Amino acid sequence: MVHYKTVEEVQLIKESAQILGKAHAEVAKRLKPGVKTKELDQIAEEYIRDQHGVPSFKNYGGTFPASLCISVNEVVVHGFPGNYEVKETDVISIDCGVLFKGFHSDSAYTYPMQGVKKEVLDLLERTYHSLYLGIEQAKSGNRIGDVGFAIQSYVEQFGYGVVRELVGHGVGRSLHEDPEVPNYGKRGKGVKIVPGMVFAIEPMINMGTRNVVQEKDGWTIRTSDRKPSAHFEHMVAIFEDKTEVLTTHEYLEEAYSYKWRSKSR
Ligand code: MG
Ligand code: MG
Repeated sequence: MVHYKTVEEVQLIKESAQILGKAHAEVAKRLKPGVKTKELDQIAEEYIRDQHGVPSFKNYGGTFPASLCISVNEVVVHGFPGNYEVKETDVISIDCGVLFKGFHSDSAYTYPMQGVKKEVLDLLERTYHSLYLGIEQAKSGNRIGDVGFAIQSYVEQFGYGVVRELVGHGVGRSLHEDPEVPNYGKRGKGVKIVPGMVFAIEPMINMGTRNVVQEKDGWTIRTSDRKPSAHFEHMVAIFEDKTEVLTTHEYLEEAYSYKWRSKSR
């Protein structure tokens, strides 16, 4: 069942998303080779709690141990922060959620370190671009399949794999609500997009095969061929005459010292 949001509720989600965007920036400032991923997690948690928010992911499902999902290289999503030290050649996906005044926000970004190969940078740029192609299709009157189709048809031309097992989702009083928003689909198919919907679009795109496996920890999802994967996520709110992006990458892009993203795309 889809929980439709009022204008006031969308406003509260935006407040939550502002804290989230700035929490990402605090992490981005400290993200460089040598940092332990658990240090990044601590920075995010402290910032969120200082703003009177609650990290949405901590204890999610009774078992997720951290405030951030930190997914390195071939890890697609749901990696645990820990003693791992970031390396010069890593790509690091950071996913975070904030609960504030009863509403969740959720967004993700994948950062390349400076030693990352061009082909991996291309994967990141194209995955980032596919997120915006999905957002363009997320408008009143379209269908969820239009969003997935836009993402899938763009990235598959480069030979990339679209992960099927994990999808975008409605967000609100719960972190994961209906509808599901797959990163693949058919034009004109799926749930109709109508005003009041708020959902996360989050392409998870693999350089090689789309197949993934779950590690024994019960959370970590990695590519089965161990090639790298990228993940970017925004939340949108649907109105009659417009779609608003509620989350922001603006603060983290300002904070991250390595300006990898070309302005042309
Ligand atoms: Mg999400
Ligand atoms: Mg997320």
